[in-house]
Amino acid sequence: MHNLSVGKDVLSFCTKCKLILSAIIIAMKDDKVPFRVECNTCKTTQAFKDPSTRMGVKKTKAKRTRAKEVPVAEIWEEAIKNPNANKVKYTIKGNFIVGDILDHKKFGPGVVFTIIDNHKIEVIFQSQIKHLVYNR
Ligand SMILES: [Zn+2]
Repeated sequence: MHNLSVGKDVLSFCTKCKLILSAIIIAMKDDKVPFRVECNTCKTTQAFKDPSTRMGVKKTKAKRTRAKEVPVAEIWEEAIKNPNANKVKYTIKGNFIVGDILDHKKFGPGVVFTIIDNHKIEVIFQSQIKHLVYNR
């Protein structure tokens, strides 16, 4: 692995362009893994998506169910600090993008981590990851 740090370019799967594109690292998860990136093409700030794990959907799912030891609170804390994130109130009618900070009346503040499909998003809350309905 080459040296990655904030400000450097990295290949990430852009959820907006739906392509693997170069992006600028905005925040690091640890010294090796980027956490948030800005797509060089559409300039959207979003969670870093490792292109290699993004290739197969099945692979990603398997990884996610196994990743129970990932400290959700840690990811949540990092994400919630992002000053560039959109802060929005959660309603099922709302439309969200990856990186948005939701205010959920039951679960509290959460960060949109993945757009699952047109009506489902994966949101990280302080102690849990939830699938929420949106865009209804
Ligand atoms: Zn893009």
